[in-house]
Amino acid sequence: MPAPNGEYVIDLHDVEKVYKGDVHALRGVEIKVTGGEIFGLLGPNGAGKSTLVKIMMTIVRPTRISGTVLGRPVGHKPTLRRVGFLPEHHRFPRHLTGRQALEFYATLAKVDRPTRTRRATELLETVGMSEWADKKVSTYSKGMMQRVGLAQALINDPELVLLDEPTDGVDPVGRREIRDILLRLRTEGKTIFLNSHLLSELEMICDRVAILVQGRVVQQGRIEDLTADSQRYEIVIEGAAPSWAAGHPELRIDTGADLRTTLTCRGAEAPSVQPIIDRLRKGKVTIVSVRPVRETLEDLFMRAVIDPKTGRALAPGAARLTRDEATP
Ligand code: ADP
Repeated sequence: MPAPNGEYVIDLHDVEKVYKGDVHALRGVEIKVTGGEIFGLLGPNGAGKSTLVKIMMTIVRPTRISGTVLGRPVGHKPTLRRVGFLPEHHRFPRHLTGRQALEFYATLAKVDRPTRTRRATELLETVGMSEWADKKVSTYSKGMMQRVGLAQALINDPELVLLDEPTDGVDPVGRREIRDILLRLRTEGKTIFLNSHLLSELEMICDRVAILVQGRVVQQGRIEDLTADSQRYEIVIEGAAPSWAAGHPELRIDTGADLRTTLTCRGAEAPSVQPIIDRLRKGKVTIVSVRPVRETLEDLFMRAVIDPKTGRALAPGAARLTRDEATP
């Protein structure tokens, strides 16, 4: 049974990982993922995203951890059977066909023979690989490998699916198909946790995100909530801004190359822009559009990776700190 919506499927805190050489890959990470949601973990290269997923899959041993995945402590082997996993840069044995690869992984996951035959066929259909099912994996493109990889992650009919860069190397059509599959899985009640650096893609499908920078979660929540403070109204008008607008404390003026001007109102609420619209209309200014705008996930991300001390983007990779600095 999938976890009921609203219950935490991943509830981890205090996750630390120090690799050899004093590489602090994770520094007190707290992650909460609710049942039935698509959760995106984003961060620059080397931020620790893969390390966190590998810890949940018990591939990497954490230095410290508390909390649960599917209600059990990390490391509880029977629980792993309820989790599906697509590793980054995964490889299948090249002499197998796509179908054989899926059946092989189903066997490892202890799925019985009739079920694995049926499920392999269904999943190949789901990921759009039926026609290639009996061709060798060695003939597949990167995008095809990712599709079969996704099917592999679903072969044990998991409640929780962990996907590390699922659309890596996939063309735009394939990326869209993968997004649609993930949305469909959500309607089936599955919980999806994905790592990605493709921000616009995460923005399209994630219910909630966390931003990981140098092993620390710097933001976590619904994208709407994380960007709510940045809401502004943009009014585009024909021609130049009227003279009163230049001195208006609530307005920023940007003159475009197309003889249009954008007035950005500082107020976040619709009522606050009405007097400005009235004044423009009274002055016979032609209003082209009025729309609320807010930060994109990319803006949020860029803000998160700027070092407040230097004003520059933090270097990618893990923090190299003394042990005293590492644990706040
Ligand atoms: P991401 O997935 O966000 O790119 P990773 O989790 O792969 O980040 O890596 C986080 C940091 O840990 C990086 O600095 C990386 O070089 C380091 N790292 C990853 N795996 C190992 C390892 N096996 N031994 C030592 N350092 C590692």
